[in-house]
Amino acid sequence: MTSLFYINPDKKIILIWLKDNYIFSYQFLKLEKKIKGIITKIESKHYYLIPEGKDEEILCSLRGKFKKEYELKKDKLYFTDFIAVGDYVDFEMNKDGTGVINKIEKRKNHLSRKLPKVRGASYRGERLEQVIAANIDKVIIVTSIHFPNFNNRVLDRFLVAAESSKLNPIIILNKIDLDENGEYTKWKELYEKIGYKFILTSTKTMNGIEDLKNELLGCKSLFWGHSGVGKSSLLNKIFPSINLKIGEVSQYTSKGTHTTVTSRMIKVAENTLIIDTPGIREIDPYGIRKSDLGHYFIEFSDFINDCKFNTCTHNHEPGCSVTQAVKEGLISEERYDSYLRVLDTIEDDIHF
Ligand code: GDP
Ligand code: ZN
Repeated sequence: MTSLFYINPDKKIILIWLKDNYIFSYQFLKLEKKIKGIITKIESKHYYLIPEGKDEEILCSLRGKFKKEYELKKDKLYFTDFIAVGDYVDFEMNKDGTGVINKIEKRKNHLSRKLPKVRGASYRGERLEQVIAANIDKVIIVTSIHFPNFNNRVLDRFLVAAESSKLNPIIILNKIDLDENGEYTKWKELYEKIGYKFILTSTKTMNGIEDLKNELLGCKSLFWGHSGVGKSSLLNKIFPSINLKIGEVSQYTSKGTHTTVTSRMIKVAENTLIIDTPGIREIDPYGIRKSDLGHYFIEFSDFINDCKFNTCTHNHEPGCSVTQAVKEGLISEERYDSYLRVLDTIEDDIHF
């Protein structure tokens, strides 16, 4: 008896054999051991993921080899940082319904922050960078008019973090129903002039909700904003099935401790994922030098190259084109003021 195997384009294996001058064939699916998934949540050594094309989360552990890699990086990064929410992985199923992660794919991008200094910690073993999430299509920065009040400097700080990680930020100013005198549209004008997408929203009047929805569909978006700005309310209006709690005070440990990353990803529609960051109140951009900060205030880029010194920090230096542009009204005072405040808080990092 002769037989042959043939794999057709649907990855089906076809077995063909000849018997008594008749051709027989049999088709079966090749068992793929490796399955692809995306990390949705990390809790200590528990890694949750959603397999490709599915909706349900699976609890996984990491293959032992990763621990060895961690040993090598001990003085720079902690365990959690080489796997983060948003990472694509290969995994295998165990018989009990849990999985084991074998491989972590290279990231397209990631958002990280510099961790607050820990008093008394030795330099060695100090964790410098914390990865918040990986493979992000859009960063939705949510602010509100009141409770909490709009603060453009908080917004600009986050824009710096997004720009320095080459992410695509979109600004939301929520609770526009509280803007009785229409005084907040000036911020929309300011940021749109720079080139940012800026959407005024209200979950009470439904202003801007459709616009925001269109931005989210088919993308992986990270939501960031102080507690109370209306992130859960907005997501509930757009995707009613997710039912996030409203007004829930998020839990986060105070400054000075190694706070754990509490970002988590939820699938809200087909190909549409939201990364929520309830534990991330502040983002101290990681790995920025004073002389580079100007590049992350994107409207400065038209002027930076004309500064007299190429190490210009656009502060007090003579022959600075950026300060000249502020004087001429080409760069807004508000943005320049934000720039100086961020500049003031940057300590040049030792490691890059
Ligand atoms: P989160 O902490 O960012 O998730 O904010 P929540 O969605 O929990 O909302 C915080 C508070 O703001 C709740 O009391 C909401 O009812 C209120 N809120 C949310 N959106 C709006 C809005 O568009 N207008 C007004 N006036 N209040 C809002
Ligand atoms: Zn300058």
